[in-house]
Amino acid sequence: MQRLTLLSQESMLTQAEIDALSGKTGLSADIADHMIENVVGIFSLPLGIARNFLINGREVLVPMAIEEPSVVAAASHMAKLARAGGGFRAVASPPEMIGQMQVLDVPNLEKAKSALDDEKEYLLQEAGKADPVLNELSGGARDLTVRLIPESPIGPFLVIHIIMDVRDAMGANAVNTAMERIASDVERITGGRVLLRILSNLADRRLAHATCTIPVEALAFGDYSGEEVRNQIIEAWAFAAVDPHRAATHNKGIMNGVDAVVIASGNDWRAVEAGAHAYAARNGRYTSLSTWSKGEKGDLVGELEMPLAVGTVGGATRVHPTAGAVLKLMNVKSAGELAEIIVSVGLAQNLGALRALSTEGIQRGHMTLHARQIAASAGAPPEWINPIAEQMISEGRIHVNRAFEILKDWSRK
Ligand code: NAD
Repeated sequence: MQRLTLLSQESMLTQAEIDALSGKTGLSADIADHMIENVVGIFSLPLGIARNFLINGREVLVPMAIEEPSVVAAASHMAKLARAGGGFRAVASPPEMIGQMQVLDVPNLEKAKSALDDEKEYLLQEAGKADPVLNELSGGARDLTVRLIPESPIGPFLVIHIIMDVRDAMGANAVNTAMERIASDVERITGGRVLLRILSNLADRRLAHATCTIPVEALAFGDYSGEEVRNQIIEAWAFAAVDPHRAATHNKGIMNGVDAVVIASGNDWRAVEAGAHAYAARNGRYTSLSTWSKGEKGDLVGELEMPLAVGTVGGATRVHPTAGAVLKLMNVKSAGELAEIIVSVGLAQNLGALRALSTEGIQRGHMTLHARQIAASAGAPPEWINPIAEQMISEGRIHVNRAFEILKDWSRK
């Protein structure tokens, strides 16, 4: 395929890595059998490359694993628009994850809290021993906080948060192991009973932030002036800022970009989804993860901030051969750099959706790919997918029954 030849010219990937990206090799049933239980096969997704991304001054080819048409095209298109304003600026906070411990049957909550505060240094030292690799990499246990829950359906209890710097890992295992390690100490110190010891997916200390500034003249297209497009994008965003029903769909658009890179890099997208939506509701009402405004010079300014618990080591990142090639293609040196790319793609995707929705609507751009998908789902052979899609579009009848009819008709000829 021509695209693969171009990719091997543009990247430092070996032939084996290109084969893993192309689907020629990649995840084998043998490797899969070691990843989860009761394996019977492999489930594949299309892998596309979003182009034009300039992130912190660096050119990045962004691999995206996704089944939904238009996402990769929109990301590439919006990344091109963002280039007019210097691309994306992104920053990730330190990779600090939170582990939670629930302590029940505590005889005296206040006393237990102050005893835990007194033993904080000891507990942090013990927690740190759980993962010597992290310590060697200057990560490990950073802080411990205690909260009293005076009322709950099962009465009062204590909650301990352990903050761990997990470096380039997503960190679930390091955090969970550290919590297990200090559980008996916590019972001794509090006189209580430890029940849950588990990572929190509301990774609100591990945030990624991206911004882009698009010169207003770059936004003009068709009959729309740049000012019109900018204003309508801001108006569309404002709907999501105040209304949870709109915000859910708005944030879903952001996650179209985010998840596609999270999946391609072998990361846990359920963890990222959980964190994103919990963060969107952090002030008590679910709202937009992004903001769009008019800059001083009349530019369109976009910002996105969200938790991104992703790793470049651990989990499936190094086990899945395609994920390994994906990480190499993006040339990321740390989990923070990966998060910076992902949050930028989320912002680009959000811009794409807002721009389309607030101007020509999404169906127009979506139509061709949608029609092709319908033709494929009706069982059209590869060489007929485009012609059947074109016929359905020209007739204005894009549904699977029509695809069946055309297919039947053409098969008779
Ligand atoms: P992991 O345990 O496979 O690997 C991380 C470990 O690699 C670290 O603890 C460290 O010992 C070592 N390491 C080597 N080089 C490192 C570096 N440069 N930076 C950091 N660590 C380095 O992976 P993980 O990130 O702990 O776990 C991720 C997996 O856990 C995901 O697959 C996720 O699905 C799963 N998980 C998630 C949850 C949740 O989200 N609530 C809960 C349990 C498990």
